[in-house]
Amino acid sequence: MTTRERDPFAGFTSSIVHSDRLSPVEHGSLHKPIHATVAYGYEDANELAAVFQGKKPGYSYGRQVNPTVEALETKLNRMERGVASVCFGTGMAAIGTAIFALLRRGDHLVSSSFLFGNTNSLLNSFSAHGIDVSFVDATDAREIAAAIRPNTKMVFVETIANPRTQIADLKGAGELCAEKGIVYVVDNTMTSPYLFQPTDVGASLVVNSLTKYICGHGNALGGAVTELGNYDWNRFDNIYPEYRGADSTKWGITQIKKKGLRDFGAALGPEAAHHIAVGAETLALRLTQQCRSAQALCEMLDAHPSVARVYYPGLTHHEQHARVAELFRHAGGLFSFELHDSVDTFEFLNALQLVVKSSNLGDNRTLAIPVAHTIYYEMGAERRASMGINDSLIRISTGIEDVDDLLHDFQQALT
Ligand SMILES: *Cc1c(COP(=O)(O)O)cnc(C)c1O
Repeated sequence: MTTRERDPFAGFTSSIVHSDRLSPVEHGSLHKPIHATVAYGYEDANELAAVFQGKKPGYSYGRQVNPTVEALETKLNRMERGVASVCFGTGMAAIGTAIFALLRRGDHLVSSSFLFGNTNSLLNSFSAHGIDVSFVDATDAREIAAAIRPNTKMVFVETIANPRTQIADLKGAGELCAEKGIVYVVDNTMTSPYLFQPTDVGASLVVNSLTKYICGHGNALGGAVTELGNYDWNRFDNIYPEYRGADSTKWGITQIKKKGLRDFGAALGPEAAHHIAVGAETLALRLTQQCRSAQALCEMLDAHPSVARVYYPGLTHHEQHARVAELFRHAGGLFSFELHDSVDTFEFLNALQLVVKSSNLGDNRTLAIPVAHTIYYEMGAERRASMGINDSLIRISTGIEDVDDLLHDFQQALT
């Protein structure tokens, strides 16, 4: 390829930063404006009808379409190398709506047992509504294979599980789902499309909580589902006739948007979409620093006499360290660790000066939380034990502070 033929926006960050102006924007605005409107008016009633009937592109009602949200969806497509994305008010809304739109009573879903706590709770709710759910150790695709039944319609995994950082057998699950014709959903929140692109392992749909790394600043909630074009929905018998358009790789996302988002209504607002779009411009820069700090802190803690165990995929003793090296750009900005019995978990946390005690992750600030006592409290001791959550487990999400300040804060709090 000559230098002239090279796509000038080929790089990950270049494509995000210039995404808006690649479609016409009023006044040459470099950001897609915040379109604070619910409805869209038409001079000609025939045109209004054509838009509603899907015969003409256009905007119908704010619960399903908004130009500012659409601009963010375009960015997400570029980031995940997908064919279509739909945004939601939160990450939970994205996961819930996708499953609600695609599965029915009597269907079976196989999920990783190492899950974000609220997703675990959500899947249990679906199970109470007649969708069978099996939880398996997804770090080994053979465990997923063993749980597959004739009515299995979906496999759901996360990339790096929070808080213990187990890494699913992403490639093995992709091969299995391709062979069996099962929809393969990857929650990419913990890695974000900068560290890992699930299309590389044959995922059908990607879920992202935009609240975390993609927005990054802890100032807006959002979620998204991206269709990657790898799955032929002809193999899936739950698609209603009205959503079976010409391109069968888009039937799933069409049903999620036209039925799921419309019926459930968990739409992303245009103001939040703007915050997320601006945040996404620095995703690669922030996450590179966050991963670097996580690695440095984990190496320090791993050698510290007061620390019993550190869970971070960037450490060579992590069980899936080789998988990270093969699939991910860096090992992520999240880790957890257990203190020796001689150190009180809460005293340690209270001694931290720079690090904030908070439940979020992917923020620009470094955040710490005692897992068993907070986000995993409701599920009870038995389920916590099955997930490997010890009472002294502390989860850390690294921010973008200077790494020397972070190292110093942890060291002073441990002594
Ligand atoms: C936070 C999170 C979610 C849910 O996202 P919200 O935007 O908080 O609703 C889903 N999956 C993972 C892995 C998460 O970390």
